[in-house]
Amino acid sequence: MRTSSPQQVMVIGGSRGIGAAIVRAFAAQGAQVRFTYAGSAAAAHALAQETASQALHCDAGDRQALVNTLAAAGPLDVLVYNAGVLLSGDPLGLAADDVDRLIDINVRGTYHASVEAARQMRDGGRIIHIGSVNGDRMPFPGLAAYALSKSALQGMARGLARDFGPRGITVNVVQPGPTDTDMNPAGGPHAELMHSVMALKQHGSAADVAALVLYLAGPHASGITGAMHTIDGGFGA
Ligand code: NDP
Repeated sequence: MRTSSPQQVMVIGGSRGIGAAIVRAFAAQGAQVRFTYAGSAAAAHALAQETASQALHCDAGDRQALVNTLAAAGPLDVLVYNAGVLLSGDPLGLAADDVDRLIDINVRGTYHASVEAARQMRDGGRIIHIGSVNGDRMPFPGLAAYALSKSALQGMARGLARDFGPRGITVNVVQPGPTDTDMNPAGGPHAELMHSVMALKQHGSAADVAALVLYLAGPHASGITGAMHTIDGGFGA
């Protein structure tokens, strides 16, 4: 890791929730942060102003747009791929296009962004994917597409860790459990059901997930790669 100039950080999907907490955490430690957004322009611009970061419009489900954004970004020290969508319902009733769109954003985007970032990343760079404990455990019906998308990140990280290891680039997955955001509000209708399978009967915070991301991007994590880092209140215990 370079220590003399600010870390160059790109967060894919940083306008809200866990992504916004990651933007705030890197900015607070002096990194130069750019982040992408798709639908939440007002939130993205407010966050950019608050954190002196740069907001870039880019749909993570559009491979060419994503690749162009990464190619234009220049050499990065850290890529965090956080963009993700949730789709729930009986698989027999879900629209196939919606399932494919989820896979585009959650899986294909993660892969192509990581490869494009690595193309020009400095040696010793860090690639961090935001997965989910649902990649390990899916105790509820109706979430197969989401779970498959998060399990896919595990194999991806293991493989890319081997590919980029010779350059000192690490690839890791952070796997939150229920975390209080727009996607999964602590006061939402399914909160109690989720808490029933957790050791700690409460949602986690986006700031705590961001702190784990920061650790993996920091100087003490240079030997950690190809690994899953679960922060889930015991959802998977
Ligand atoms: P939110 O729905 O609160 O926020 C999602 C973020 O992803 C927004 O900034 C959104 O940007 C961005 N995003 C979604 N689609 C796109 C897209 N096509 N292009 C660019 N950005 C996009 O979700 P969370 O903060 O809760 O989730 C963040 C990540 O954490 C996801 O990968 C999710 O799967 C994972 N996760 C969340 C858990 C939870 O309980 N909250 C638990 C486990 C994992 P915009 O609004 O601008 O489109």
